[in-house]
Amino acid sequence: MKVLKFGGSSVGTAEAIEKVVEIIRDACCTDSCAVVLSAMQGTTDALIDAGRSAERGDDGYIETLSNIGERHTATIRKLFGKENHTDVLDFVESTIKELQNLCEGVRLVRELSAKTLDRILSFGEIVASRIVAAKLGDEDLENEWKDSRLLIRTDSNHGFAAVDFAETNRRIKEYFDGSPAKLNIFPGFISSDSRGYTTTLGRGGSDYTAAIIAAAVNATTLEIWTDVSGMMTADPRFVRNVRQISHITYREAMELSHFGAKVIYPPTIQPVMVKGIPVLIKNTFAPEDHGTLIEAESTTENEMIRGITSIDKITVLSLEGSGMVGIPGFSKRLFDALSRAVINVILITQSSSEHSICVAIEEKSADTAKLAVDSEFEYEINVGKIEPLKVESGFSILALVGDNMKEHTGVSGKMFTTLGHNGINIHAIAQGSSERNISAIISSKDARKAVNTLHEEFFSDGNKQINVFIAGTGTVGGKLIDQLRAQHEHLTDELRLNVRVVGVANSRRALLANDGVDLESYSTDITKGDELTIVGFTDAIIEQNLRNSVFVDVTASPDVVETYPKLLAKSISVIACNKIAASSEYGKYSQLKDLAREFGTNFFFETNVGAGLPVIHTLGDLLRSGDKVNRIEAVLSGTLNFVFNNYDGTSKFAEVVRQAQDEGYTEPDPRLDLSGTDVARKILILARESGHPLEMEDIANTGFLPESCLAGSVDDFYRELDGNESHFRELLDDALGKGLTLKYIASFDNGKASVGLQSIGPDHNFANLSGKDNAVLFYTNRYSEQPLVIKGAGAGADVTAAGVFADIIRASRT
Ligand code: ADP
Ligand code: ASP
Ligand code: MG
Repeated sequence: MKVLKFGGSSVGTAEAIEKVVEIIRDACCTDSCAVVLSAMQGTTDALIDAGRSAERGDDGYIETLSNIGERHTATIRKLFGKENHTDVLDFVESTIKELQNLCEGVRLVRELSAKTLDRILSFGEIVASRIVAAKLGDEDLENEWKDSRLLIRTDSNHGFAAVDFAETNRRIKEYFDGSPAKLNIFPGFISSDSRGYTTTLGRGGSDYTAAIIAAAVNATTLEIWTDVSGMMTADPRFVRNVRQISHITYREAMELSHFGAKVIYPPTIQPVMVKGIPVLIKNTFAPEDHGTLIEAESTTENEMIRGITSIDKITVLSLEGSGMVGIPGFSKRLFDALSRAVINVILITQSSSEHSICVAIEEKSADTAKLAVDSEFEYEINVGKIEPLKVESGFSILALVGDNMKEHTGVSGKMFTTLGHNGINIHAIAQGSSERNISAIISSKDARKAVNTLHEEFFSDGNKQINVFIAGTGTVGGKLIDQLRAQHEHLTDELRLNVRVVGVANSRRALLANDGVDLESYSTDITKGDELTIVGFTDAIIEQNLRNSVFVDVTASPDVVETYPKLLAKSISVIACNKIAASSEYGKYSQLKDLAREFGTNFFFETNVGAGLPVIHTLGDLLRSGDKVNRIEAVLSGTLNFVFNNYDGTSKFAEVVRQAQDEGYTEPDPRLDLSGTDVARKILILARESGHPLEMEDIANTGFLPESCLAGSVDDFYRELDGNESHFRELLDDALGKGLTLKYIASFDNGKASVGLQSIGPDHNFANLSGKDNAVLFYTNRYSEQPLVIKGAGAGADVTAAGVFADIIRASRT
């Protein structure tokens, strides 16, 4: 015999019930069948609502019950031809009347006992199974309907009754021995106690009913028909790219369901496992899909883990105190107290010092647990041996499950590193000694992110989703977005990175879209975006709590820099094109680097020096591999190089500067370039990155701009440049007269840094630097005779955006 169970969604509509009938027809061609049915989806919840509203004295239950009645009636009308549906309709009508009476009674006494609630709930399964049985009969599939309450005997723990297996098995066998029908139909979920009162087996309990029957009759298989094609590697409502698990062992399935994989009710596995009955989870709406086969042994698919689950609404109880150390019996007393209060313990951890025991339970039992434990330890608490029970809520349990875990080292390492990189704090950890499960208690607000990020780490063919937030939509920001759009395919195909821009902000407004901002239309969309300051934008980023988040600052604003610490402290990578952070006071710069280290994230600012040229990371590689930087010589201003390369006396100095600005080679305020301040910031950053804690004041700057050029607005500046043409002409003629050219050079030597205009000869390393190029020469222990040279375009929106892009990729891969 086969046992088939159909869940709430499988009997949720007339169309679904028709599919169920076809599945049963196929199944009973070859074998006799027992079919277990749930209530129509949502009915149990609605019945609970009705009961609770009656208990409050509210007559809302009348409408709720009549809605339940109408839904069933409409389904029956759809399912049956006109003539032969009266029996079932009458049955539903009388049932609803009975429910109205029951609820009226509850309303009058203002009390809903667990016993009465069970009675109310039983109608959901009774009616649904009656409808299906009638429909099967209508389709010439002769069957026998049997009230499961007459077969499944339990204790009187209403709502969560424990099965008396000896009596239940005896009754089921007796029933089947005497039943001539090849097809037997049963309502799931319901049972009765020794006095005949209705009990229920816990929410989702119809699966259990089916397993109890299957075990009692030694069925060949138990099929659980639901609305998904089997057990998935994670809850499909939480994670997008879940995979179907084709084979799984009983123990793995048990662990997964225990820790939240709702597709199967946890107690279901036990009875069938004992009998070795295979369980097949199938999809009523896609019966051709393979589904999941649960057996004693399963083919290993070479995965380290089988699935990831989480349960929310968890409360953590901690019993702590020096009085516990070395004295046996504390934990026994704790668990006895919890057990007497009928509290289900989900997870336990104990510190090796025995100083504390930490227990995870369902949130709804928190108050009862506190009372029970504090009264058990009243004496010890009074004499100060232990603390009153600490109760903390708002947690979830995250679990990684797989029999194979014991053969693979490093699963927990990978798990906790991944969580750490995403700023997910772990409150407690438990690992079963069977090494089939590693669980961690985390804050519920991190649960979705945690499951997704672990799923990606363990299951996604190497594909990783990067969530990018961009502050600044100016020239560089715009180019960066263009590049990200153009490279999307390459990134997914070649690097297996799905880089998604999920937020874009300018100084007034922001666009935030979890599914990705439209990179074609963002510049118009943002005009209708939310009005948000940078603080609002970054708060929203933190609030969104997405995995692998990267924040990109392509502004020149000090306000944006102020937000870096809080982002880094949430393990969000910060990619700064903005130079303010790395060149502000040393304390700030080092604080940001420390934060990145502490929170396992990245603070990258490659484009601060030499735009897209790989200067800072090369320097980092040299130092990490044990080299030491002795001297740096550099031309670090694309603007100044452009200006002095193009200023040959044919046009005025002011005109050449304006051309540089028009072509996008200058800072928004070109005085930062012309005064040498920008170059000073860059050599300062290189000196710091080489390990020297210099400040801006330590950089000697021999500027060439007359004082008057530095006051006033940018327009005033151009006017002053124009008025001082003779000064610039003099500098030029002086150099030309000696056969030299002008270069603005930054140097760092022996711990000291300086910047200034120099006249250099044709043999100088920088003599042939053309256009807006930059060059950096590193003299190190390894490169002592001939320096390591990095040279190329050192300004321009395209190359700068490319440098930021490279930083994003680097941050994504660490
Ligand atoms: P039924 O009413 O058929 O008993 P349930 O709603 O109890 O169905 O269980 C099926 C649901 O379980 C799926 O729709 C899915 O949302 C959820 N679920 C949670 N975790 C998993 C998982 N790991 N694999 C498959 N489904 C899961
Ligand atoms: N109808 C019950 C519930 O919703 C039992 C079940 O569907 O398995 O919990
Ligand atoms: Mg279910």
